[in-house]
Amino acid sequence: MTSPQTASHVTTPRPLKGQLALVTGSTSGIGLGIARALAGAGANVILNGFGSPDDIAATIASLQELGVTVEHDASDLLSAQGAAAMVEGAIQRHGRIDVLVNNAGIQHVSPIETFPVDRWDAIQALNLGAAFHTIRAAMPAMKAARSGRIINVASAHGLVASPYKSAYVAAKHGVLGLTKTVALEAAREGITCNAICPGYVWTPLVEHQVADTAKARGLTEKQVIEDVLLAAQPSKRFATVEEVGALALFLASPLAASINGAAIPIDGGWTAQ
Ligand code: NAD
Repeated sequence: MTSPQTASHVTTPRPLKGQLALVTGSTSGIGLGIARALAGAGANVILNGFGSPDDIAATIASLQELGVTVEHDASDLLSAQGAAAMVEGAIQRHGRIDVLVNNAGIQHVSPIETFPVDRWDAIQALNLGAAFHTIRAAMPAMKAARSGRIINVASAHGLVASPYKSAYVAAKHGVLGLTKTVALEAAREGITCNAICPGYVWTPLVEHQVADTAKARGLTEKQVIEDVLLAAQPSKRFATVEEVGALALFLASPLAASINGAAIPIDGGWTAQ
């Protein structure tokens, strides 16, 4: 039998109405796709990340059309203090933080013996450290509210490795460890913490990479996509930011209350192999 509580969740068209969502690294790509999905469900959004003032203003305006408030915080999350201060400022201004999405990330590809130490440090600081600092800062308010959703954007590389990506693979595996630990600590507090593990996702970054690689290697764009970039992805298609956004929205919604400490692949079968 369906409980009245469940029925209201199913029929609520904007399940996050009035909530506050902070999405790191959301001026482009996956983060923006997640911010758009959460805003479409009624959440007021704080964007974070870099970009030209004109591009950021246009992004804010397009999200405001969804009938929510939108702010942009330009904090550089390579700084632990910057990451914590961004969350603390959001809580001070809004009195709440309902959904925290740790998405900002960078990559560097190199054999380990020549891997630049400063790139290792930056990747640990942003891809893993920033998630620790934002969660640490958000947890008191979430515990006080006895409610909260933390979603960490890890990667298929949180579950399996590829050569030459030591810093990224180590950091993303670390994100899954952080996710599970926070999930256990918060399980009785109405808070969940989960990780999304995308394979290759079609973002502006990847789009440019396809064109450049095709030119550099004398291949067609189709060959680059299927034989180079998607060599490990059995579907031979990119996931889309809309698909990742929809998964994040479900994890943020009331009906995902029992999903906790999970690492959910969205990778066309990559990590099933
Ligand atoms: P992207 O480069 O399009 O976006 C990265 C975002 O992070 C941008 O908004 C950028 O301004 C922001 N950012 C970068 N450095 C920052 C800093 N120091 N402080 C604050 N913000 C900063 O990348 P994307 O492809 O959308 O990737 C987003 C996340 O998804 C990353 O964590 C990445 O590892 C993960 N991911 C991406 C893919 C993919 O195929 N695109 C696959 C798996 C996982």
